[in-house]
Amino acid sequence: MSTNEVTIIGTGPAGLTAAIYAARAALNPVVYAGVQHGGQLTTTTEVENFPGFEHGILGPKLMTDMTAQAERFGTKINYEEITKVDFSSQPLKLWAGDHLIESKTVIIATGATAKTLGLKSESKLMGRGLSTCATCDGFFYRNKRVVVAGGGDSAMEEANYLSKICSEVILIHRRNDFRASKIMAERARANPKIKIMTPWIVEDTISDETGLTGLKLKHAETGETKNLETTSLFMAIGHKPNSDLFKPWVDTDSHGYIKTTNHTATKTPGVFAAGDIADPLFKQAITAAGLGCQAAIQASKFLEGH
Ligand SMILES: Cc1cc2nc3c(=O)[nH]c(=O)nc-3n(C[C@H](O)[C@H](O)[C@H](O)COP(=O)(O)OP(=O)(O)OC[C@H]3O[C@@H](n4cnc5c(N)ncnc54)[C@H](O)[C@@H]3O)c2cc1C
Repeated sequence: MSTNEVTIIGTGPAGLTAAIYAARAALNPVVYAGVQHGGQLTTTTEVENFPGFEHGILGPKLMTDMTAQAERFGTKINYEEITKVDFSSQPLKLWAGDHLIESKTVIIATGATAKTLGLKSESKLMGRGLSTCATCDGFFYRNKRVVVAGGGDSAMEEANYLSKICSEVILIHRRNDFRASKIMAERARANPKIKIMTPWIVEDTISDETGLTGLKLKHAETGETKNLETTSLFMAIGHKPNSDLFKPWVDTDSHGYIKTTNHTATKTPGVFAAGDIADPLFKQAITAAGLGCQAAIQASKFLEGH
């Protein structure tokens, strides 16, 4: 069995950017796409903040183009999921089901999945009123009333961010108390553009052919129901980093994000982490791509030294 120079797990902006750099450095990267080839951006419509596209670009189109760019330089993409790894010795070992892969370096770019409320219409309305990212989608709702659901720091941050762009932010939480840190919750409470509704639950969406038009709410204590008119709901209940598989071989923070030192290096020599999986803070396509670039260059330097 031949040993890969670089194996990349994930085909979001981080994985594909790493592939472009590794392929152009003649490292013949082998990429595993997992269940969501193209990553999170395949679930959205307009991406207006990725540089190079004056009028924006559709998320799926951006990822198709990134894939083609990586393939043009010889990247091999496998549409399989990595199900097990053993990084205890060189060569590093990975499995896609029964299929064993050996590699001198691995770039983990498996992303962090946004948690959602589990509403029936989520897949239909994502990018058409439903969002999990205020930095990404807030601008589409400038000067409009928006709703944020959640009670942790992410929700407070999203609400504060949106209050600078939107006319009114309604922050809905199922409990009276917020899980958020005191300072973040107080900042949200003191913000005159944020109206807090607790304890209310978002039960369902109302929509027409244009997308979301309102929400069906239920009071968590009295059971009272009402409809709220809005064209956007930001679900801000955190992310789940896809790092479980790698935990024995990398350090993670309390939420599961991979901790890196010296840019993208993990505690295991030859194993690098890039993109949302290692970035609890920014979680943007451009930052993921930047980390993918760094990981590929660091993998290349590691190979030169070995
Ligand atoms: C609805 C939505 C809209 C967004 N809009 C914007 C925007 O406008 N602008 C912006 O900058 N950002 C936006 N973002 C955020 C952006 O999508 C992410 O920051 C970015 O995709 C992170 O890239 P990534 O490569 O780290 O991971 P991801 O895009 O999450 O990709 C992860 C990849 O890893 C793969 N994977 C996971 N586990 C395995 C495994 N075990 N084996 C093999 N493969 C695996 C997945 O299949 C996927 O290919 C948006 C996010 C969402 C959800």
